[in-house]
Amino acid sequence: MKDPLLRRAACAVFLSLGLATGAGAATVYTGDVIQGKRVISQLDVADLEPGKVHRFYFQGVQMATGQHWYVPVVVAKGAKPGKRVLLVSGVHGDEISPVDAVQRTMAALDPAKMAGTVTAVYDISRPAKEAVTRMWPMSQWGSQLIDLNRVWPGKEDGANAPTRHAGLGFNRLMKPNADIALDYHTAATSGDFTAFIFAKMGKPQIREMALLYPIEQIKSDPGFPGTLETSLVEAGIPALTIEIGGPRSFDRRMIPMFVEGTLNVLKLHQVIEGPMGRTSKEAGTFFGDAFHTVRATHGGYLELKVDLRSKVVAGQVVAVQRNSFGEVVREYRTEVAGEISTLQRDALIEPGTRVVQVLYDSPDPKCDGDGCDSSADYQD
Ligand SMILES: [Zn+2]
Repeated sequence: MKDPLLRRAACAVFLSLGLATGAGAATVYTGDVIQGKRVISQLDVADLEPGKVHRFYFQGVQMATGQHWYVPVVVAKGAKPGKRVLLVSGVHGDEISPVDAVQRTMAALDPAKMAGTVTAVYDISRPAKEAVTRMWPMSQWGSQLIDLNRVWPGKEDGANAPTRHAGLGFNRLMKPNADIALDYHTAATSGDFTAFIFAKMGKPQIREMALLYPIEQIKSDPGFPGTLETSLVEAGIPALTIEIGGPRSFDRRMIPMFVEGTLNVLKLHQVIEGPMGRTSKEAGTFFGDAFHTVRATHGGYLELKVDLRSKVVAGQVVAVQRNSFGEVVREYRTEVAGEISTLQRDALIEPGTRVVQVLYDSPDPKCDGDGCDSSADYQD
């Protein structure tokens, strides 16, 4: 292109396309090195050397004292081009099995034999991770707790630090490097969960991925505003919210189910080769499109009469609550038949606490496809 005007016009088109898609932004190295890892403020997996594993700290938002929160990132860049898959753990700081599940998945990859890229993001909610707590503790307003999974896709010029951190992570790390994304969670502290996936099952690309997991339960779920999964899907990136049991420790029984499922997803998208492992079909996964939540109406001590995966019928007692005198203050019953998905492990609870959640197939046609709105009952 010899004509300088034409060349400039072509450049402008290229630039505007690049800006519109978020692609073409090179990886930005800040020049800092922390504990042997190079620090980046922007990732573009396209410019990393193929056939290798790359490890970085992504520079997140600043703390009040001016240092940054740094997020560990590992990229397995395949020798050949292909789909870009994003694995995220640590949106909540008390959810530990996700870290192990993602680490084990990454350890199973050989980039020299891969076609495509797998990017693992660990401990994204760094201050929550340091405190092993669900919420991000910020110093603004005399210390407030923010749920990072309610502020996605964030805002780089937002009104508080976690919202800005989410904006940086979404715009400069995750969205530009993902064709598919998996966000790993567990129940929050005091609760427990089955081996479970929230998926917008009405969307074929998402459904196809969810069905590849040999797990216990899958809920058709329309998603909740502010979650990473919903923000990614709204940005055109098929995504799942994965739940690996309870918080604070490694669930050695469940983690392999999710490693196997994610490797199946990578095989589906031809990032890696090999025969499919077990899927939802072999695992006899229970499907539902709605949650029935039983909440405590009283304070007191809770004795559960069911466990995770218990099959329940409408009217069945799921828990009995007693006061300090040992008198029964309440019997809690499920109004629907289904399977127990989540329950309260703390025995002493306040009114309003979720006692159990029952996954079931709702007769309401509005629950078909992507499932019923779970806004009041959503827990991730
Ligand atoms: Zn979570």
